[in-house]
Amino acid sequence: MNYRRSLARTALFALVYVAAVLIGWQTVLGPIGTGLMWPAGVAAVWFCAQRRARARWADFVALPLALTLTVQATHSASPTAALAFGVTSVLQALIFCWLLSYWRPNLWGAGGTEPMRSPTDLWGLLGAALGASLCGAAVGVISEQLFDVSPDWSNFPLYLTRYTASILVVGSAGVFLGSAVTTFRLHYGSVGGWWWHCLATLLNTPLWRIGEYTGIVVVSTGAYLIGFGTTAQLPLTFVLLSLTVLVATRLSTPFVLLHNTVMAAIAVQYTIRGKGPFSYVTDLQTQTILVQIFLALVMVVGLALALGRDERNTLMAELAVERAELAEEQQRAAAHADLLATIIDSMAGGLAVVEPDGQLSLRNPAFTKLLSGFEHQATDPVFGLFRLDGTRYSEEEIAHLRAHICEEAQDLDVLVRSPDMKEGRIVQITATPLPHRDGTRSAVVILHDVTDERRHRDELANFAGVVAHDLLNPLSSVDGWTTVALAALSDLPPHPNLDQAIADLTRSTRASERMRGLIDDLLAYTTARDAAVAPATVDLGAVVADIAEARTDAAVGGEKPAPRFTIGELPPVEADPVLLRQLLDNLIGNAIKYTAAEITPTLTITGHQDGDMVEICIADNGIGIPAGQHDAIFGNFHRAHTGGGYQGTGLGLAICKRIVERHNGTITAADNPGGGSCFTVTLPAAVTVTLPLPDAHPGAATVTPLRAAGRPSPPGRRL
Ligand code: ADP
Repeated sequence: MNYRRSLARTALFALVYVAAVLIGWQTVLGPIGTGLMWPAGVAAVWFCAQRRARARWADFVALPLALTLTVQATHSASPTAALAFGVTSVLQALIFCWLLSYWRPNLWGAGGTEPMRSPTDLWGLLGAALGASLCGAAVGVISEQLFDVSPDWSNFPLYLTRYTASILVVGSAGVFLGSAVTTFRLHYGSVGGWWWHCLATLLNTPLWRIGEYTGIVVVSTGAYLIGFGTTAQLPLTFVLLSLTVLVATRLSTPFVLLHNTVMAAIAVQYTIRGKGPFSYVTDLQTQTILVQIFLALVMVVGLALALGRDERNTLMAELAVERAELAEEQQRAAAHADLLATIIDSMAGGLAVVEPDGQLSLRNPAFTKLLSGFEHQATDPVFGLFRLDGTRYSEEEIAHLRAHICEEAQDLDVLVRSPDMKEGRIVQITATPLPHRDGTRSAVVILHDVTDERRHRDELANFAGVVAHDLLNPLSSVDGWTTVALAALSDLPPHPNLDQAIADLTRSTRASERMRGLIDDLLAYTTARDAAVAPATVDLGAVVADIAEARTDAAVGGEKPAPRFTIGELPPVEADPVLLRQLLDNLIGNAIKYTAAEITPTLTITGHQDGDMVEICIADNGIGIPAGQHDAIFGNFHRAHTGGGYQGTGLGLAICKRIVERHNGTITAADNPGGGSCFTVTLPAAVTVTLPLPDAHPGAATVTPLRAAGRPSPPGRRL
């Protein structure tokens, strides 16, 4: 708002205010000059409308000035008294603005642009009107001293009711009107648009509704005219109040406001003419107070009912929208659920959700089919769940298995025998935990029938094992005959072709050595895969020291630099001694092998216990593993360094992985921060049992049980 516009608005409000003061003088009751209407409401709306005006100071000057001049022109009151009234009006208007913006900042004039929409808005406005009137009335009484009379506190209720009624009526109208003007462009665009909107609304309004409006207005106007126009001094206000209720519940809120204002005007008009229910009260001050209370009551009751209805309608509309959205959402969710159910049911793999108490809250037909032998577990020794080596899971083990699945299971293979598949099917179980907010967790279990895959793999591995084994004999013959031929050639006298023949035979010896390496690895691989695991407590430190010594001897014998070992404290592990040695030898051998020619291999081997597992780290200063191949090197025949003269078959780490997995451990490769690589292996820690010793010492002693002391588990056990 620019400065000029601000001043123009101030002038306009001042004119309206002067008009209101003059009209107020017309409502004076009796000869003592007590006006029924006072422009306190106009001042309140004025100051609310101008709260963001550029020339706000002008309002502070204009209001007292307008009041003083009007009073001077029409009455003989002293200028000081008139000015005091003006200042009181400014103060009152300011307090109203401040209280309204504090309680209902959303309303027009209080900082927002909204009209009153709920009874809460009305209570806010009423509270602000009361607060402002209390101050105004108190200051008004005190300033009477300026009329050279002592303050008369009996005027206080009169001022209070008059100010409150005025601010309530004009303030409510101002909030509705101000909001409509502010949002006019947004809603209608132009005056033409507004007309069209009104016309369209009128045309769309059913006839019975128009009839209802007309009927109610006619009846209530008639009732007010009779109630106040009669000289019979009948106390009919209660009838008029009930009409207010009817109007408020049936007609639109702005219309209720308009209706009540018109009716208030009728009531005031007749009362000042000495008619109506209040005219029989002889004390004019009491009469004025009663009229003000009646007007305020009609306005409050009417607006409270109308706004309560509006609020309920708004809430109902919001509820209806939310219900529609919810229904739509439910429909979408149901369609989604149907789709998911169809997908899950048509999956070849089994899927189920296991709840924390072990119950299945969801499972698809494939899940039931794949575990169809399981229901015979308790009753039939032939059907149920088995390990891959054919040993049957006991009830306790199944309970443990279930708990393990709820924790997290990765590719666990079990054999399920059922009447419809007597030879059994191998089912791979994968479970993913589903944590809940209450701290419990379910698990999503996925089953895959891997029978064919496993058989195929086993057949291939067996075939490789058999072939490798059968190749060893002819290879030994080739080796033997080559050695014999070399010995025979070395005894011959020099001949031009002799050196060439010896070189060819030496190459053939190297080729047969490489082939032997491959066959050895193939055999080791099948052993690592198939051989029974016999876990025992193994002194890891001793095994590592032994391998280190052997590797040092081999290097010195081969005229290579002796590797340097730093071996930390290594806790004992529970593992198959043969397979464990094979595992560590492979890893240490690789660490030495994959070191640059001119560098002395330096290995750091450390270990520590972490819960039930022991973690072993083998770090080297070698050539390192190429980026992105740290997982791939554990695959069969995968070689990360094919050039550079590093001999190998690509089976060593596959063997290591297999051995570790058969011990329920893990193996990973990473870059050594100081250069080279670092292989980390986890294996089960040695089993120890804690027994209480009641007599000897309080507390407990740790002893190693028989099995842990080195006695192997029953033969034939496979993990
Ligand atoms: P290989 O018979 O080739 O040694 P492995 O299975 O033992 O086969 O190892 C697979 C590949 O992993 C190797 O070819 C090599 O590229 C890489 N590798 C294994 N150990 C190490 C190591 N300590 N440092 C660097 N690379 C290694």
